[in-house]
Amino acid sequence: MSESLRTEPLPSLSPRPVDSVTSRVAAPVVETTDDLILEVKDFSVDYGWGEEAVRAVNHVNLNVHRSQVLGIAGESGSGKSTLVYAITRLLRAPGIITGGEATLHLGERGTAQGDDNVLDLLAATQRELRKIRWSQVSIVLQSALNALDPVQRISSEFEEILKTHRRDMSRAERRVRAVELLGMVGLEEDRLARFPHELSGGQRQRVMIAIALALDPQLVIMDEPTTALDVVTQREIINELHELRSTLGFAMIFITHDLSLLVELADEIVVMYAGTVVERAPASALYEAPRHPYTLGLLSSSPPLHGPRNELTGIPGSPPDLSRLPSGCSFHPRCPYAMERCATEEPPLRTLDDSGRSVACWLHDDDPSVALPEVLARATPLRVPTSQTKTFVPTRSAS
Ligand code: SF4
Repeated sequence: MSESLRTEPLPSLSPRPVDSVTSRVAAPVVETTDDLILEVKDFSVDYGWGEEAVRAVNHVNLNVHRSQVLGIAGESGSGKSTLVYAITRLLRAPGIITGGEATLHLGERGTAQGDDNVLDLLAATQRELRKIRWSQVSIVLQSALNALDPVQRISSEFEEILKTHRRDMSRAERRVRAVELLGMVGLEEDRLARFPHELSGGQRQRVMIAIALALDPQLVIMDEPTTALDVVTQREIINELHELRSTLGFAMIFITHDLSLLVELADEIVVMYAGTVVERAPASALYEAPRHPYTLGLLSSSPPLHGPRNELTGIPGSPPDLSRLPSGCSFHPRCPYAMERCATEEPPLRTLDDSGRSVACWLHDDDPSVALPEVLARATPLRVPTSQTKTFVPTRSAS
């Protein structure tokens, strides 16, 4: 593995006082906690410190359940990658966790969870973190080229991880397991003898996914794993992940800027803007009827993978400079529906309905003087629902 995955975490500095940061209302999520695997509460991350500190993740709450796929979407700089790197304690300087909690529930699948199986990720020692990395929580990075050692054959990558964490395995057993893992992601045994540069981008990313699954983790984090790939390979990998999740039962956090792609895979989606969660909803509900103008903009920025062609309108302007965030709703300079109060008051994330949907936007404040735009109030799909169209079957060998 490359150094990026071996990096030891930086110690967290003391949180800033709560009243010194932007106050937000915690997401009021109503759900069972029995099958939780990851619980993140009021989590904040800064880059830099003191007067120069820039808030990259702002009081985020989220839960991941066993076998669930949680999607995190947003443009570059929205804080989605910073969030998961901080939670897993892989964040590098000058990133600093400034507040909140991140708890991993390690109970075996299908069994009751006791207190012994709860790990406070922010207080965990290096030894405790090493114990859970790969075996309980694994991560697939955007660029497999950066993650795979360029001078090691693929077989060595599997050897290293299995030898370290499965000491009772013989060399022959490790080889069998490596072949099995490659098979899971559609690669032939002969790839074990190759160097990373001898594989295509899609094959390298598949190798990374296979390595991430090597120790049968309960939670797999995918940080834009398909971004650098062509559309066909993206679709093949998404379908394979879908099948692997169904077969192996791991939970997944999938990060991407491509909301259309995410809808194909995720059970629930969290949309982030400027470090803040602006909408959270079941994937199909979010896709069919977005409630936040930014979510609507993201959906209008990439072509749907199925259904009729739509004109791509995108989002006007650029993501904000985090060191000079606009006042009020940070999306207001780009929002076509911005009102006067949007420039001065920050909307809290509030529950919208009993489907588990939350949204941070003054349009949904039940103010009778505010007319909700039809496109953000509709109950009918914007496009053909994915549930009717998930019929894609890869027809060519892994690339
Ligand atoms: Fe737009 Fe105002 Fe809603 Fe922000 S709060 S997304 S500016 S309408």
